Amino acid sequence: MTTTPAYAAQDATSPLAPFSIERRAPGPRDVQIDILYCGVCHSDIHQARNEWGGSIFPMVPGHEIIGRVSATGSDVGKFKVGDTVGVGCFVDSCRTCAQCEAGLEQYCAEGMTGTYSDRERGSDVVTQGGYSTRIVVDEDYVLRIPDGIPLDRAAPLLCAGITTYSPLRHFGVKAGDAVAVVGLGGLGHMAVKIAAAMGAQVTVLSTTESKRKDADALGAHDFAATGDGSVFKRLRGSFDFIIDTVSAQHDYNAYLGLLKVDGTMVLLGMPGPSPVSAAPLVVGRRRLAGSLIGGIAETQEMLDFCAAHGIASDIELIDIASINEAYERMLRNDVRYRFVIDIASLK
Ligand code: NAP
Ligand code: ZN
Ligand code: ZN
Repeated sequence: MTTTPAYAAQDATSPLAPFSIERRAPGPRDVQIDILYCGVCHSDIHQARNEWGGSIFPMVPGHEIIGRVSATGSDVGKFKVGDTVGVGCFVDSCRTCAQCEAGLEQYCAEGMTGTYSDRERGSDVVTQGGYSTRIVVDEDYVLRIPDGIPLDRAAPLLCAGITTYSPLRHFGVKAGDAVAVVGLGGLGHMAVKIAAAMGAQVTVLSTTESKRKDADALGAHDFAATGDGSVFKRLRGSFDFIIDTVSAQHDYNAYLGLLKVDGTMVLLGMPGPSPVSAAPLVVGRRRLAGSLIGGIAETQEMLDFCAAHGIASDIELIDIASINEAYERMLRNDVRYRFVIDIASLK
């Protein structure tokens, strides 16, 4: 066991504060990673504040982890000391169910093991995430970071990147498709970059005008502020695909009306419940779907895709001491476009 500095939430209402955790000594198949950077996902806020229920405290959040391998177990074959690696939203799964065998570990029949706020398989040991200096993970759940992506800007790919890449691929978005991205935050800005790299015509639907210029710089072809409700009339029936990354409750029905016949809206954001009417689905044979992060093989594919297309996250690098302020700024839509913690500030 090694004592590891971290930042943790002690309960759902306290700010995050310095904390110490124990990491296991690497087992035969484990990779020990000294963490360099960790992205700050809105899911960290949802979980640190127990907005989904079931949170385990004390909680060290963080599932957009980049680091260097500092030790390997005797049976590790994929990584060696010094390699630059990543860890995303899960660190284990059953490995034998149909989904695990298909590379869809995130939908494991026995439940994936979350990187934090979860329990290791077959034990009571609580998993703790990347707002810490070190993590130990089975090599099958570790990603290789390709050369060419700046490491701080690579961290958000481990969640925001794969969460947007996976549905774009799964639902077959192709060159020329009209894609709307709802919500220009961490997930949204990655969706814009990746969809544009796939050749789609991308429109950003944001609550206010304030991100119009940024959307253009990120590669979007069009922009509309939804605060002006006339947008829902003007853009009716415009999109083949809508990717909804909004973190707060909003009216799905209004957005469904923006799909073409046979269009698909995929929910990625996970706010509380919001009613869905049959009418906008029935009238237009439209589909409403959801999607959860992505499997290990697809995450590697996404990282390689991003390296090949020169894609990385637009980040604001922060010290760990600013984490509570960063959460408040995310809740005010004041992030351009991902906070990433410089873990050197924790040592
Ligand atoms: P974020 O960086 O905070 O961005 C969320 C964006 O939603 C904001 O920038 C804002 O964009 C928009 N928004 C916020 N409140 C809104 C409102 N009331 N009405 C309309 N739009 C609003 O969050 P994130 O890290 O991208 O995460 C987004 C959501 O995805 C969270 O719920 C998170 O838990 C979830 N998530 C899901 C998965 C998955 O696997 N499905 C993975 C990661 C995260 P504008 O300023 O452009 O309006
Ligand atoms: Zn996340
Ligand atoms: Zn499984």
